[in-house]
Amino acid sequence: MLSYWEREAWTRYDVIIIGAGIIGLSTAISLKERNPKLSVAVLERGLIPSGASTRNAGFACFGSLTEILHDIVANGEEATAELVRARYAGLHLLRQRLGDEACGYEQHGGAELLFEKNISALDQLERVNTVLGDIFPQKAFYLNNDAIASNGFNTEHVKALVQSDFEGQIHSGKMMRSLAALAQERGVMLFFGADVQQIEEGGAEARLHLRHNDDSVVMQAAQVALCTNAFTAQFAPELGITPGRGQVLVTTPISGLRFRGVFHFDEGFYYFRNVSSPEGQRILFGGARNMAFEAEETTALTLNDTIQQELERLLHEVIAPSAEFSVEHRWSGIMGFHQSKLPIVRRTEKNVVIGFGCNGMGVALGSTIGVETAKCVLGQ
Ligand SMILES: Cc1cc2nc3c(=O)[nH]c(=O)nc-3n(C[C@H](O)[C@H](O)[C@H](O)COP(=O)(O)OP(=O)(O)OC[C@H]3O[C@@H](n4cnc5c(N)ncnc54)[C@H](O)[C@@H]3O)c2cc1C
Repeated sequence: MLSYWEREAWTRYDVIIIGAGIIGLSTAISLKERNPKLSVAVLERGLIPSGASTRNAGFACFGSLTEILHDIVANGEEATAELVRARYAGLHLLRQRLGDEACGYEQHGGAELLFEKNISALDQLERVNTVLGDIFPQKAFYLNNDAIASNGFNTEHVKALVQSDFEGQIHSGKMMRSLAALAQERGVMLFFGADVQQIEEGGAEARLHLRHNDDSVVMQAAQVALCTNAFTAQFAPELGITPGRGQVLVTTPISGLRFRGVFHFDEGFYYFRNVSSPEGQRILFGGARNMAFEAEETTALTLNDTIQQELERLLHEVIAPSAEFSVEHRWSGIMGFHQSKLPIVRRTEKNVVIGFGCNGMGVALGSTIGVETAKCVLGQ
């Protein structure tokens, strides 16, 4: 049961955002930017954000050549170009809001490794550059095969390297802390450990039911923004958003690690980068979800041994065959997927707006989706 004081001062807002991932926090910041007088609260069920945003690989990326080719087949050239444009704009906004130091941004570019099985993607390189023509200041992709050996990759396996100079990398933990700090600075109330059980629609305000001290508490808002990513089915199963677990490992520091930047292969299903830590350069490597789609369609924050072993094998055989290291950290995070791979930002109920859309690539896109979600909440 709440006290009179608690109920009067803590439970009622103009807008409540559910989920403190990159989209939820960016939506809160965008709302305050557009109308500083709005009272805005973010409800996050974890002690820290507990979906994808603090558990990802930190690629500030736009899509690799094979990934973009896949998107063109699924959504057409125009929609794919718009998505890449939204990612590029989102990264710009994120860096502008936080500053590069606060989110650990480094720009070493990125590259896709091609193997015998997908070398034919090179035939489409210029087509993709044309599709993305007016987004980047120079060509999005170019061939840079000299970097295969100079980066220390196994030349027996890697047949081509497609470079992109515009990708960067962030420290996901620092980025999310800085976003939370900025939201608070703008006057947003952040609640952690606030697990929303149910949204009750109907009147002028939506009523949100939460667990509280072995009891329940109701919070009210004229508008609710649902930024719960993979967990959205709890509130809006009709949207068809499904979870997909991603797994990552980080090595011990590697002396003389030769590459810097973000690297992808197999349509983005595998991704690795250097991590500059106080102890030295490490490799972060993640992916392989495509080995076990069904098993990985889960919200369980656990690991799958088969996937972890495959990541280690590729690390030793393909990525850093001559380096000495062991694996120091492993974790998983949960992404949200929708068949179309396009963002979903729209009103789903009288008082509820959905802000979803990263589909496994949210670092760059999250800020743009936050702007769009805020606009939708405000009816702009
Ligand atoms: C392993 C991994 C690697 C990735 N690597 C990259 C990468 O390198 N680059 C990139 O761009 N993207 C990457 N992604 C994807 C990126 O992290 C996501 O697209 C992005 O973080 C999604 O942000 P979001 O705000 O939509 O969701 P989330 O960060 O998942 O936030 C949703 C939040 O809602 C909260 N929530 C859910 N239900 C409730 C409830 N009932 N009540 C209260 N709170 C609730 C959750 O706890 C969660 O914190 C990766 C993801 C994973 C898992």
